[in-house]
Amino acid sequence: MAETRILSGNVVSDAVYTALESRIQFLKESSVVPGLAAVIVGENPASQVYVRNKTRKFSELQLHSETIKLPHETTQAVLLDRIVALNNDPLYHGILVQLPLPDHINRALIIDSIAVHKDVDGFHPENLGRLTAGRPRYVPCTPKGIMRILQHYDIDPSGKHAVVLGRSNIVGRPMSILLSQKQKFSNATTTICHSRTADLRALAKQADILIAALGVPEFVDQSFIKEGVTIIDVGINRVDDGSEKGYKLVGDVAFEAVQGIAGSITPVPGGVGPMTIAMLVENTVEAAENSLG
Ligand code: NDP
Repeated sequence: MAETRILSGNVVSDAVYTALESRIQFLKESSVVPGLAAVIVGENPASQVYVRNKTRKFSELQLHSETIKLPHETTQAVLLDRIVALNNDPLYHGILVQLPLPDHINRALIIDSIAVHKDVDGFHPENLGRLTAGRPRYVPCTPKGIMRILQHYDIDPSGKHAVVLGRSNIVGRPMSILLSQKQKFSNATTTICHSRTADLRALAKQADILIAALGVPEFVDQSFIKEGVTIIDVGINRVDDGSEKGYKLVGDVAFEAVQGIAGSITPVPGGVGPMTIAMLVENTVEAAENSLG
């Protein structure tokens, strides 16, 4: 049985931070410290962890970041006012609003209110439109990070069949666009699957590159894959494990079940997660550079 290669997001993200050092230094010499404002509404425990992990990296790199924590009851009008203030605050080059938002807040309206040149998550429809047109401004962090993992390990999507499981605006859809672009290190033939897809398993089995972004713990097992496939496991799911913490993190792929069949796979944790953060830092550095003109 051939060994499945581990594609480490920790290794690739370290290379990203090393490459960013001179850019950050140049900005600081120009009296610009890249700054991120992270807005979080409510007490969703997973969201609190994500925002903490993102802002921790900014501190480690001596970049500026602030977390704006608002209570669950915050009205849409108050949230909009905060975003408008951040849009106009030169301390912040990037703004992220952690999702999900409480049900009483219109998520599309909030995303639309973020200034496009500060939308370092790349979720604004103008930025998603630019990506689709092949003229990206900020590429959503998770799919951008996945492309970097593929590049780092020299897994060229060109001519391959990439199957993306999930069609969210955050992961699945931009992923399918990046993989099928007419440019170097892209050019895959792409299939995108979702909850209405007929016989998803048969389609997944055709994949040379399989991206699992469903949010269903260990959904993809050995029956979904062909030998040698590259698997990118985007899922981050909390499952009860009876431990003191009460849960463990698992991906959308049954990691052990695909060992020896898959050619390579990103682990959870330590795969896509660290790359999402690295790309957020990179996008914020880019936004700070853009602010210099
Ligand atoms: P969403 O819930 O927004 O989208 C999930 C997608 O999967 C939808 O398109 C949905 O279909 C599809 N889907 C769900 N269940 C099934 C099923 N049983 N069969 C077929 N399709 C299904 O999730 P996100 O895209 O935001 O996130 C996906 C996963 O990635 C989550 O686990 C999330 O935590 C993780 N994530 C990880 C990140 C990282 O940095 N590693 C960053 C962002 C997300 P339909 O559209 O029809 O409803």
